[in-house]
Amino acid sequence: MAANTDSPSVEGSVTAVDYLSSQLSLEREARDLMPYDPKVCSYTMGPTRQQVYACLTCLEKTGIPSGVCYSCSIQCHSDHNLVELFTKRYFTCDCGTTRTKWCCSLRDGVDDDIPESLNRYNHNFRGKFCHCARDYNPVEETGNMLQCILGDTCDEDWFHDYCIMGLPKFDPPSPVEDDKQGVNVLDTLGEPGLDAETMNDNGNEDKEQVIDGFPRFEDFDCYVCWQCVSNHRDFFDKIKDNTDIVADTLQRIEAPTISERNDKIREQGSFLNTLKKRKMDYEYSVFLKSQHESHFKALYDQYQDDNTIHSFLDEFPFLMKDDPVYEPPQDDDDGGSSVYDLGTKAINSLPREKAIEGVQVFEDIKTKLKDFLTPFAQDGVL
Ligand SMILES: [Zn+2]
Ligand SMILES: [Zn+2]
Ligand SMILES: [Zn+2]
Ligand SMILES: [Zn+2]
Ligand SMILES: [Zn+2]
Repeated sequence: MAANTDSPSVEGSVTAVDYLSSQLSLEREARDLMPYDPKVCSYTMGPTRQQVYACLTCLEKTGIPSGVCYSCSIQCHSDHNLVELFTKRYFTCDCGTTRTKWCCSLRDGVDDDIPESLNRYNHNFRGKFCHCARDYNPVEETGNMLQCILGDTCDEDWFHDYCIMGLPKFDPPSPVEDDKQGVNVLDTLGEPGLDAETMNDNGNEDKEQVIDGFPRFEDFDCYVCWQCVSNHRDFFDKIKDNTDIVADTLQRIEAPTISERNDKIREQGSFLNTLKKRKMDYEYSVFLKSQHESHFKALYDQYQDDNTIHSFLDEFPFLMKDDPVYEPPQDDDDGGSSVYDLGTKAINSLPREKAIEGVQVFEDIKTKLKDFLTPFAQDGVL
């Protein structure tokens, strides 16, 4: 339907104000998705805590899993099948190394640099997540997932809440009457790279559906998986009751047998209780409080002679301090950039002829819109 700008409030028409506000929200969306200027590959920085993207196309080509940095995900692998892994510690970009054998357009087309041997590749780099090794499907995934902050055993894997508890995928106990679904953490995180290790500050309470017995997201800051805890059981047994540091621990229930699953279907309510009552040697996960860093540091200073505490914290010093995620340089014209400018940037990657055409079209629209909107602005309508 054609917009009729002479008579306001014609159904289906678009006013200048509507137009501008929709443009603003598009701009915000674009900036949320790509807040940084993808100009610099992080390879030369060496091992860094940063956003990493697994490239499944390069994996298919070489048979070797690899991960690339934020800028390379946009500039070098944009038409490849990428899986966003959020942050990994001590990671160096694989683009332009012999691991991907892919030319890094941000580093003069190099394709034979030496890959960093400190990089660790768990199954996330093959698009699999959690103990259950499911493919991550952003469309279908409706549960809550947490990333393990320690990562010693799991390499900072992400875990489903039901897998953390050792339950089979938890189906709603009764026919679903409302649309309430669990929130997918990967969708609710803010600016990429920030707070990516936890999901508790998504600020979206009504979408959270916490499994019965699972800690509430607002009560903890980050998560240590049961595998990493088991690998350092001496240390965690020592601190698990320290309420300055630990918000909660969660025992992992042994995966139920088929007949127990059937019981579950028959008696929904009692299923969890039955499992909880079963006696077994539990593994457990640890949920750390915010401010755990300063309390870990205090513990370290206080127990000079305690070898368990000292050797653990010496191995994982990032637990005692703020451990920022590397952020590529912000887009220069942040704040001033418009959809047109973003569009102009996008067409820079087109073949020259097409790009020139595209720029002309964009400039044309820009001028026309400006001419159209100026009188409104002068009349104080905008
Ligand atoms: Zn890179
Ligand atoms: Zn690739
Ligand atoms: Zn690259
Ligand atoms: Zn799982
Ligand atoms: Zn872990």
